Amino acid sequence: MENMIIIGSGPAGYTCALYAGRAELAPLCFEGDPFEGYLPGGQLMTTTEVENYPGYPEGITGPEMMEEFKKQAERFGARFEHKTVTKVETDVHPFKVHVEDQVYEAKTVIIATGATAKYLGLESERTYANRGVSACATCDGAVPRFRNQPLVVVGGGDTAMEEAIFLTKFASMVHIVHRRDEFRASKIMAKRAVEHPKITVEWNSTVDEVLGNDKDGVTGVRLKDTQSGETRELACTGYFCAIGHKPNSDLFTGVVDMDDAGYIKTIPGTTKTKVAGLFACGDVQDPIYRQAVTAAGSGCAAAIDATRWLEEHEG
Ligand code: NDP
Repeated sequence: MENMIIIGSGPAGYTCALYAGRAELAPLCFEGDPFEGYLPGGQLMTTTEVENYPGYPEGITGPEMMEEFKKQAERFGARFEHKTVTKVETDVHPFKVHVEDQVYEAKTVIIATGATAKYLGLESERTYANRGVSACATCDGAVPRFRNQPLVVVGGGDTAMEEAIFLTKFASMVHIVHRRDEFRASKIMAKRAVEHPKITVEWNSTVDEVLGNDKDGVTGVRLKDTQSGETRELACTGYFCAIGHKPNSDLFTGVVDMDDAGYIKTIPGTTKTKVAGLFACGDVQDPIYRQAVTAAGSGCAAAIDATRWLEEHEG
């Protein structure tokens, strides 16, 4: 039987593993399986430079940072597996954690499953998935189809700014399509994007359809003006959706309390869910801050809460 199973990697899961390792709980962390769509290391694996994590004055790439987090946790006995949890039985204790065709028993479970990029929900986004449609410029931006071509990024937040700026390395022009006339992004990121010579902003516009054909994949988008309703076509070979994220909480629907968007609600001031022994940390329970450093902080809190819970229940 495991003392602690951590579901999900990323700053929250890895930091929880580090603290639980140092508490000699030998935690087992299921990092997710890249073939199931869960990237070990979480969203930071798709980020370029992280400039706002304290302790890295020159910045560090997301994948490098996650590798270091993981190594540090391993040093203290945390164990990692590239597998995806498919079900957790929480009406029994120890909990039963289903992983592919195996079932593990665990005294405590930590939900650190993070969040996943959202799409607009157009059928054409699916049709051209991996043929010009992406939600991750860092993962896909360097492929030949995007080189010296016009590209489209949808969204007005920091993710959209970051993706657009990154894509200027490859594109002939990046068009940011935003549904309003001002960005939600932080001032510094918005300024960098707006002032970039290879970025044009299509204000008050939404993507009505991703256009393309079987042979070439994406060839353009149809834009709709949010004020006049008029539509027009814009040629591009890449469509990057950057409109935010959905918390990966589906495994726990009906088990723990959630808000309307699916973010897990924890007992205020703690990482405890309403199920004793079940904790949540990181972006899956954070609709507000969603930063690497806040996720890491809540991973630490979850490890401490769970360690104390085990001490109380085991005497
Ligand atoms: P946000 O929620 O901040 O922004 C989402 C953007 O997408 C908004 O501009 C929103 O428009 C737009 N949008 C949402 N739904 C739709 C839709 N259906 N159609 C068209 N547009 C839509 O998400 P982000 O992922 O950008 O950022 C999340 C958090 O992560 C933020 O706190 C951000 O600061 C942080 N972050 C920080 C980075 C950094 O510091 N390097 C990098 C990336 C993210 P509208 O504005 O009209 O609502």
